Amino acid sequence: MARTPATIRRLPEKSVEDRAVIDAILDEGFVCHVAYLIDGRPVVIPTLYVRDGDSCLLHGSTASGIAAAARRGSPLSIAVTLVDGLVVARSGFESSVNYRSVVIHGHGTVLSGDAHARALDLMVEGLIPGRLADIRSPTDIELRKTTVVSVPLDTISAKVSAGPPEDDIADIGTGVWAGVVPMTTTYGDPEPSPDLEPNVEVPDYLTTLERS
Ligand SMILES: Cc1cc2nc3c(=O)[nH]c(=O)nc-3n(C[C@H](O)[C@H](O)[C@H](O)COP(=O)(O)OP(=O)(O)OC[C@H]3O[C@@H](n4cnc5c(N)ncnc54)[C@H](O)[C@@H]3O)c2cc1C
Repeated sequence: MARTPATIRRLPEKSVEDRAVIDAILDEGFVCHVAYLIDGRPVVIPTLYVRDGDSCLLHGSTASGIAAAARRGSPLSIAVTLVDGLVVARSGFESSVNYRSVVIHGHGTVLSGDAHARALDLMVEGLIPGRLADIRSPTDIELRKTTVVSVPLDTISAKVSAGPPEDDIADIGTGVWAGVVPMTTTYGDPEPSPDLEPNVEVPDYLTTLERS
């Protein structure tokens, strides 16, 4: 098989090619890190994203570096990381984290017209499912101020690291605790804005929010 920028060389046994698993990782996450070159210098920018079928949508200011990179045809690399637990090994060498991660390589396209407006709606629903029905549509000025960059999920890789530590045999039986401390993302109770009218109830979709 031909090598691509997404070919995993290090610990390929952790690589996952099942697109359903990759989509599930992308759908559970909502923060990514986008890398691109600017004047020959690498930059990594954390930002929100949402998966739209076979594309990853990134939104930001019209003047954002990601949008500029997409417009000038610079390649982008996007990393999505979910951390599932601390791997507490009997040595620092084997200590690690359990994770699920996806890396996307590609070129971005700046969306326009209906595709742009639809993508902004997807960004809202991706972050807060159910929210779109409660809020107004963006104004023309808001639409002009916002750019959505779409990156195809053509060249992608995923790695999943799970399970207990793999300690050196010589370290086992030394009386040092080893195992995994699971980690999850949870939401707290919604905190009303100071300017919220007293009679406005918290919508159910905010009290039942989960990420999985
Ligand atoms: C939360 C977290 C913590 C990690 N901690 C460590 C650590 O402390 N030390 C360490 O060595 N590694 C760590 N890793 C693994 C790390 O992401 C790399 O996979 C690993 O370091 C190999 O890097 P490389 O450049 O040699 O990969 P290569 O295999 O050479 O990379 C080639 C291609 O494989 C793909 N790829 C590589 N890594 C990943 C990935 N994680 N997810 C999806 N695609 C990938 C990319 O498309 C990349 O272009 C961690 C990963 C995560 C998600």
